[in-house]
Amino acid sequence: PYDGPRSSEIIRKRANHLSPSLSQFLLYKNPLNIVDGKKQYLFDEDGRRYLDAYGGIAVVCCGHCHPDVVKATVNQANRIQHLPVVYLNHAISDFAEALTAKFPGNLKTVFFTNSGTEANELALMLARLYTGTQDVISVRNGYHGNASATMGTTGQRLWKYNLVQTGVHHAQNPDSYRGIFGSDGEKYAKDVQEIIDYGTSGRIAAFVSEAIQGVGGVIELAPGYLPAVYKSVRKAGGLCIADEVQCGFARTGSHFWGFEAHGVTPDIVVLAKGIGNGIPLGAVVTTPEIAQGLSRRNYFNTFGGNPLCTSTGHAVLKVIEKEKLKENADVVGSYLKDRLKKLQEKHDIIGDVRGRGFMIGVEFVTDRELKTPAKTETNHLMGQLKDMGVLVGKGGFNGNVFRITPPLCFTKEDSDFLVDTMDIALSKL
Ligand code: PMP
Repeated sequence: PYDGPRSSEIIRKRANHLSPSLSQFLLYKNPLNIVDGKKQYLFDEDGRRYLDAYGGIAVVCCGHCHPDVVKATVNQANRIQHLPVVYLNHAISDFAEALTAKFPGNLKTVFFTNSGTEANELALMLARLYTGTQDVISVRNGYHGNASATMGTTGQRLWKYNLVQTGVHHAQNPDSYRGIFGSDGEKYAKDVQEIIDYGTSGRIAAFVSEAIQGVGGVIELAPGYLPAVYKSVRKAGGLCIADEVQCGFARTGSHFWGFEAHGVTPDIVVLAKGIGNGIPLGAVVTTPEIAQGLSRRNYFNTFGGNPLCTSTGHAVLKVIEKEKLKENADVVGSYLKDRLKKLQEKHDIIGDVRGRGFMIGVEFVTDRELKTPAKTETNHLMGQLKDMGVLVGKGGFNGNVFRITPPLCFTKEDSDFLVDTMDIALSKL
């Protein structure tokens, strides 16, 4: 049993010494002190078990503390942990080889970073270097990071400070539920063409988007959007960047990468979160030709792709294969989505159920016609679920979407438990 510091002590220390900006992210009024994790379960200071349907924002793909992953981390820590770049170490090149084997076409070169933000920053810089152009187009409601270029491409005021946002244009969000063109992806794609024609010199550096917006509330880009946009972007000399930080690593079930469901191949792919199952690691995967841009000057990253993190990442990849977690996300994710759709028929407050595999969004509205965000109810429901032992995440511009992104080992029984618990909470609303 756990005999470490209790919530009250942690809360006091946080109040005294940690940035006050952090508190807004605590999910519950009485915040959980999570001290242990195993597979799809989390345990609090009293040993109470919770079913984890959030996975730390799509971070945990293999399940908490997977023995193979932990072993890889510990073995490497015992052997050597060092800078990734000034000496050779096989852990780094082995993972690079295994990771790039998962990509189509000429996406064969990888650069490791410590986070998704860093990886997106690098991707944008690579595109600007390669094209010799500055203008970048991103999608409204998307999230790409918290440094200057990535905060610029992020398409929500909630995540922006007053930085000078240079050369970024935000396109209409191809959101089938709330977007102005419904689910007609090609109509939204015309907005990108218009930005190129009327807002730039006609030449652009890049277009960047998630295949399923995570922070934005699990919004899958309308069908037909990405193929049409990629065509416009390439005609304007730009590169297509896929931000797979949340929707990558088999999470969508039908495919290993989110972009694959749209039948496109990007020029640059950005990875983080699930890549390390909780270890700080990110990556940019691109073609050898585009990667060449970084040879013009020095680009150094002290910890990016160090032996410890890459050993861990390699173990994650092996576990996904060995335990057929992609197939599980596909089968169980579809089952879970079907059950949630049925729940929607029963409860008017559920305005939309969407997503793919283990990246599912449930949007709550007080009025189905007006789609009025049910923000207070969403918070209340989350608390009720927690009290019944189920953890989900929250997102969307209006904070009225459940984000269901469990570890990929989530089972059919877990899905039943989650939906039944939601049914009880909704019935009591
Ligand atoms: N891209 C996407 C799609 C993300 O969801 C996030 C994190 N929420 C990032 C980039 C930034 O990653 P990090 O927090 O590791 O910098």
